[in-house]
Amino acid sequence: MEKDAIFISTSIPYVNGAPHVGFAWELVLADVLARYHRARGRRVWLCTGTDDNSLKNVRAAEAEGAATAPFVRACGERFLALCRALGLSHDDFIRTAFDPRHAPAVEAIWRACDARGDIYARGYQGAYCVGCEQFFAPHELTGGRCPEHDSELERIDEQNAFFRLSSHQAGIDALLSSAALRIWPDTYRAESYAWVRSGLVDFSISRSIERARGWGIAVPGDPTQIVYVWFDALVNYISSLGYATDPARFDAGWQQAARRIHVIGKNVTRFHCVYWPAILASAGLRPPTDVVVHGFLTVEGRKIGKSLGNGVDPFELVERFGAERLRHYLLARFPLGSDGDFSIPGLAHASNDALADQLGNLQNRLLVLLEQNTEGSVPAQTDGELQPAARDAAARASAALERCDPHAAIGHVFDFIRAINLALAQTEPWRLARRLRDLPDSSERDAARTRLQRTLGDAARALLWAGALLEPFLPDTAARIGAALGSPLPSVYGGDPDWQTLAAGARVRRGEVLFERLVA
Ligand SMILES: [Zn+2]
Repeated sequence: MEKDAIFISTSIPYVNGAPHVGFAWELVLADVLARYHRARGRRVWLCTGTDDNSLKNVRAAEAEGAATAPFVRACGERFLALCRALGLSHDDFIRTAFDPRHAPAVEAIWRACDARGDIYARGYQGAYCVGCEQFFAPHELTGGRCPEHDSELERIDEQNAFFRLSSHQAGIDALLSSAALRIWPDTYRAESYAWVRSGLVDFSISRSIERARGWGIAVPGDPTQIVYVWFDALVNYISSLGYATDPARFDAGWQQAARRIHVIGKNVTRFHCVYWPAILASAGLRPPTDVVVHGFLTVEGRKIGKSLGNGVDPFELVERFGAERLRHYLLARFPLGSDGDFSIPGLAHASNDALADQLGNLQNRLLVLLEQNTEGSVPAQTDGELQPAARDAAARASAALERCDPHAAIGHVFDFIRAINLALAQTEPWRLARRLRDLPDSSERDAARTRLQRTLGDAARALLWAGALLEPFLPDTAARIGAALGSPLPSVYGGDPDWQTLAAGARVRRGEVLFERLVA
């Protein structure tokens, strides 16, 4: 049973600005994976939160003339609110500055790495970008400026603690060469691999308390130093599971978990595929099993990002279009690992095509047919014509989700929904129903009625099945489909529902149309 534990995380963002739609995408991707594994009966821990201890947060508070702690706490609330707005099923929301589980975990892993001989002090000079929270080597700069922000870099000269990444060269090389760490899509492996092959260099994991503006977690045994942002932030994944505060829980949820999955943006691949496994290895802990990488979104062709302004407000999008339309667009439109361009017309088009014309229209048409021809109940008879396609869709979507690919998976679900519509267009039950009304009592009429019942019974089962398939992606829509068909959603992921008895005799309820068309 312990083998069925699945850990899933998003990265934790700085809270120096409002959340943007690119992070909403990451939240939704992680949520789909969590809901899928739960649907299979696995014990899931979905963790998200905020990176409170970043220096960027301190600077943002200063710019607002605010004290750091209340500023960071208030900003973090907006990220939690975003989780709620998107219908996220997170089990934990960890705030690295305020959560009593976090600092003990950072201190414990620091001591474990130190005991292993992987931490040492060294004078450090370098060019540092506050926007990136990162040092840059001279050859990484663009005209002497940050390649990401095009900003001036700060010259830093101080004594810092270093992590001996170089001593993990062979271990990380072996990890990246093996199937033990899966990277989705695998094209991102090459980048980490090339980086490892170029020679791993020790990195700074502390900064002076002055540079940190007194904000962050003190280095164990050295109150003049603050733990540097990556060493602090990455540890949130295990502090969430009680590393250092609840050893049994941590062991079951991380060490013994069947999968440890991180969903991240492509800019932090190196930190999750190299730094983090090395820190874990140093502390004697197991590495992640899966790193899921999404690209960047532009908005109508323009780059978004908190540091650069011009983000699209996901709260406004949810307000205007609903969480399900936003979830659908993000999942269905943008392939995993690739960059994409977010646009309102694109959202409206995707929503009209898939949600209104395919899914909404299917449900509405079917419920009307059932009301008019079966007194509003799902027929006990079914011809089973759609059953193979239903099982095939479940198998394909499951396989895609095992590969951590919600985009491919939702594509299989909507292929099935199109197949149901196509089958109805071919069998034309509405024509059969009209003919039935004109036929006198006869054996011909009985045969036609049976055929109609079997067709509608099959289509209703198929729609219910589609609803269950949709649950990880569009949970509210899935629930509404189940309610409309008067039936619980069957266990299509990993279960083996009996087609014949599915929804048989259930009373249907035609409420509101699932999705209205949006006027562009
Ligand atoms: Zn920068």
